[in-house]
Amino acid sequence: MQQANWSEEETRLRQSLCRIGALCYERGTVAAADGNLSAKLSDGTILITPTGAMKGFLQPAQLAHLDPEGRPLDDGPKASSETGIHLVAYQERPDIQAIVHAHPPHAVALTVADIDLQMPIIPEVIVSIGGIPTAPLGTPGTPELPETIREIIRCSDTVIMKNHGSVTLGSNLMDAYKKLDMLEHTARILWLAHCARGGLSPLPPEAVEKMLATRRMLGITTPNTLENNCGRE
Ligand SMILES: [Zn+2]
Repeated sequence: MQQANWSEEETRLRQSLCRIGALCYERGTVAAADGNLSAKLSDGTILITPTGAMKGFLQPAQLAHLDPEGRPLDDGPKASSETGIHLVAYQERPDIQAIVHAHPPHAVALTVADIDLQMPIIPEVIVSIGGIPTAPLGTPGTPELPETIREIIRCSDTVIMKNHGSVTLGSNLMDAYKKLDMLEHTARILWLAHCARGGLSPLPPEAVEKMLATRRMLGITTPNTLENNCGRE
């Protein structure tokens, strides 16, 4: 579906937002009207999912179109109540083009249980995204919530907000979704291990150092390097 006033880029991004939203819903990282997704166009404007919508059933015409400060550009659907998360992320990280905010159950459950997802345990996470910092508790729908992630997203593409949900940043929507997929899959493994063993332990420092050396050798340059202690006081 394409409307006459949409550019080719806008049409493509609207379709991607619906497709990735449906994927989040089908994979259970959002439920009901949870979560929100956005993508930045080359003119700096932002397409974002509307307030109150179930992400499994979105249509391209249902998205809100905002200027870089978050003001609506048309009289279309009203933007998500959590738009502030996206605006803060685009402000702090001009290098990113897309954001997925979801409520992945295993990852959120670990924050409820005060388990640190940045503990170095899974080699793939250490090598590819460094780690998964946790942002402090914030109140949804208020300006307080976006501020809880402002510092952390300067040094990480992937963050979990305590007792709430994830925010993953990407060079495009699939990249942001890929980081959500990795975050929730990792949390699920840690959850299972925690249940099986009654606790979690980090890898020995020498094993972590080898993985960080591999990361450097591969030239992986995501902002969170684990060594930079992103999200730690
Ligand atoms: Zn949320």
